[in-house]
Amino acid sequence: MSNDYYATLGVRRDASQEEIKKAYRRLARELHPDVNPDPETQERFKEINQAYEVLSDAGKRRMYDMGADPFGGAGGAGAAGFGAGFPFSDIMDAFFGSAGGGARGPRSRARRGRNATIRVELDLSEAAFGTTREITVDTAVVCDVCQGSGAAAGTHPDTCDMCHGRGEVSQVTRSFLGQVMTSRPCPQCGGYGSVIRQPCMECSGEGRVRTRRTIKVRIPAGVEDGTHIQLAGEGEVGPGGGPPGDLFLEIVERPHQIFERRGDDLHCTVHIPMTAAALGTLITIETLDGAEEIDVRPGTQAGQVIPLYGKGIQRLNETGRGDLLIHVNVETPAKLDPQQEELLRELAKLRGEERPPGKFSPGQQGFFSRLRDAFNGR
Ligand SMILES: [Zn+2]
Ligand SMILES: [Zn+2]
Repeated sequence: MSNDYYATLGVRRDASQEEIKKAYRRLARELHPDVNPDPETQERFKEINQAYEVLSDAGKRRMYDMGADPFGGAGGAGAAGFGAGFPFSDIMDAFFGSAGGGARGPRSRARRGRNATIRVELDLSEAAFGTTREITVDTAVVCDVCQGSGAAAGTHPDTCDMCHGRGEVSQVTRSFLGQVMTSRPCPQCGGYGSVIRQPCMECSGEGRVRTRRTIKVRIPAGVEDGTHIQLAGEGEVGPGGGPPGDLFLEIVERPHQIFERRGDDLHCTVHIPMTAAALGTLITIETLDGAEEIDVRPGTQAGQVIPLYGKGIQRLNETGRGDLLIHVNVETPAKLDPQQEELLRELAKLRGEERPPGKFSPGQQGFFSRLRDAFNGR
């Protein structure tokens, strides 16, 4: 057997009709030549249509399951458009939803271009104050030879002689209910109502050409990691001169060495010695607005927060800024020489804070200090 239709559609061999239809629609939307004009995708598109034509028909599917290929040697699917058995109504449904059998009329060749997303990396101060970026995008623009029509210079799309421009063909069939008229999109023109006999050389009839362009983008103050900025109409133009899609910028914020951002506020930690916390001190902090001198009051406690109001991030699309919150970490001296220890004991005495020594206090010959001395060879 030349083709495994089940594998082509990515369904199990016992898949229900509903599952087959779903799988087909998903693939058709993905691989439609209007979306993906490259030849390889077009080939795949033909394959899924063939697979669907067989598997969606109970009779053909049974034949196929028994080892016969109902397509067997049917030849190419036809150069212009598709073979007669092509399930066009399903294709149309895949794109436009079921129209409920009502008249559709010719559809436009113009289709809206796809949206695109580009990631933009910013550092904290760029996010805080906004910035301007030049962004290079690979996109599609209207072909200026045919102005998007897809027809070669000096020619026009001809009215389709099969459907006379209506884009659909009607068929009268007899059934036990009487005569039934069914309409389906015209297989010759694909439902467009017109046929391009001489495609534009520049764009191969697509009405648009690939290009790279650079745009200048203003990024507002206050964006953060994950913010999406929509640039309406800056995406690629659609096939057939269709309107452009949108371009989205996705902000990626680089982590800052000192500041941690939470919403519009910034947090940082400063370490000051115990003595400075007790006596008060002046420290210098490098903020987003430059160096700032901070007065640490005498008697500052560990964990205390010193706020710098309005030194955080600009609120996005609002006035005002968040705050910069400085968390104070008080460092207790880890090692005291005998003189420092003496002074501290004196201070403790003066403050009436003398406490009984613990097992690890300097000068205590506890178990651990004996152990330590043993190691040090004393
Ligand atoms: Zn063109
Ligand atoms: Zn037609």
